[in-house]
Amino acid sequence: MVRVRFAPSPTGYLHVGGARTALFNYLFARHHGGQFVLRIEDTDIARSEKIFEENLLKTLSWLGLSWDEGPDIGGSFGPYRQSERLHIYREYAEKLVSLGKAYEVYAYPEEIEKIREQLLSQDEAPHYTREFFESFATAQRKKEYAEKGLRPAIYFSMPRKTIVHQDLVKGTVVFSEGSVGDFAILRSNGVPTYNFACVVDDMLMEITHVIRGDDHLPNTVKQLAMYEAFEATPPNIGHVSTILGPDGKKLSKRHGATSIEEFKAQGYLPEAVVNYLALLGWSSPDAKEIMSMDEMISKFSIDRVSKNPAIFDPVKLNWMNGHYLRTMDQDKLVQLISPFLNSWSFVPKDSHWLAQVLQVVKDRMHTLKDFQTVADFFFLRPQVKMLVSEEVKEALLVCAEKLQSASQIDKNYIVDLIRSVVKGRKLNAKEFYTSLRYLLTGKNEGPELVDVVYLLGTEETAKRIKMGLEG
Ligand code: GLU
Repeated sequence: MVRVRFAPSPTGYLHVGGARTALFNYLFARHHGGQFVLRIEDTDIARSEKIFEENLLKTLSWLGLSWDEGPDIGGSFGPYRQSERLHIYREYAEKLVSLGKAYEVYAYPEEIEKIREQLLSQDEAPHYTREFFESFATAQRKKEYAEKGLRPAIYFSMPRKTIVHQDLVKGTVVFSEGSVGDFAILRSNGVPTYNFACVVDDMLMEITHVIRGDDHLPNTVKQLAMYEAFEATPPNIGHVSTILGPDGKKLSKRHGATSIEEFKAQGYLPEAVVNYLALLGWSSPDAKEIMSMDEMISKFSIDRVSKNPAIFDPVKLNWMNGHYLRTMDQDKLVQLISPFLNSWSFVPKDSHWLAQVLQVVKDRMHTLKDFQTVADFFFLRPQVKMLVSEEVKEALLVCAEKLQSASQIDKNYIVDLIRSVVKGRKLNAKEFYTSLRYLLTGKNEGPELVDVVYLLGTEETAKRIKMGLEG
């Protein structure tokens, strides 16, 4: 049974890279009929916040990535929050000590820092060994620790040998002998370090595959050494390449929105975001780009995940979001746009009318937020004053009168009415139509005029023509 996990640290909002990692794990699990576990890595007490954890869960759900086990729903391998597993890390750290694979360190942080500085000043990487710390473990020091209620930190004894890793994405990766020294696995306050907690959890949660960002590749050598120390088989591990901005630099705030929360607020649809994220480093064998979640699940395979960095292209995301907006069910679109209307002071006549407005402007929208700029004139009267030729002015005013006195109108009636006014006069038709559009919308382009008139209604249309031509 395939078991994968997404293991975010609740120290911020879910960003593009994290969401892509979650998605690849989800697709992999679902493709193989396996399980997708959500584990909260909150051992960085100072930076972890409950609000971020809540937001992570909310955002994953919004994206449609449901988990089979997690902090909210439990499961047979819980708890799923690392802060609730401290006793387990203690037990496993002590196990490594008893096996001679780890050791206790009685040095204070500032003493360790001194050793570090000394090594660095000798141009040596700070590769600790057991010998560095032995002298601190005096009877006096142990007594001091006991008096202060402190416990020794525990360090892992890193084997000095070459470690070869077969990466699911990157292929063979060789970590040469001595590239890493000993490192802390349990701090003296009982909190584990990331590498240790991750190994203990992946082992106990029976994780079979790890898919994560390649910023974790340097950690893999430490993790593999710990599996060996536990005499456990490591999971298959794959590192997905970094996401770069369009300028080729690591994707960051400078490139605009990077958190999924921001995309949501800007009116991107979860279907589009998920589809777009899937293509950041993965491609379907048939090169298809627009895919539903089910399609992605059936086509996903780790061998089609690219070794090369993926480029985040906002233009493509906009195109894709526009596609999903245009093909979306009317009622659903009305439902999605509604929460935005208030903030723009847009008051729709009713939901049927709103659906019609959406219908005529949606080709011009990439995001839900674009509605504000492409449909504003349907809700708010533009402040327009125009000077037009006498003939056009007369024709426009006749139009206004005729519309106002019409009892029942439909689109054909509007088309015929306007045409008959233009046809019966000697005027510049182009000037007439652009002026009419501008008077009604305050813009030089937009939906078909007949749609604008029909949806504004005869009264409002007449009012806008008259007011705009006044004085
Ligand atoms: N908590 C780690 C992170 O957010 C998880 C890394 C892993 O998947 O092993 O980067």
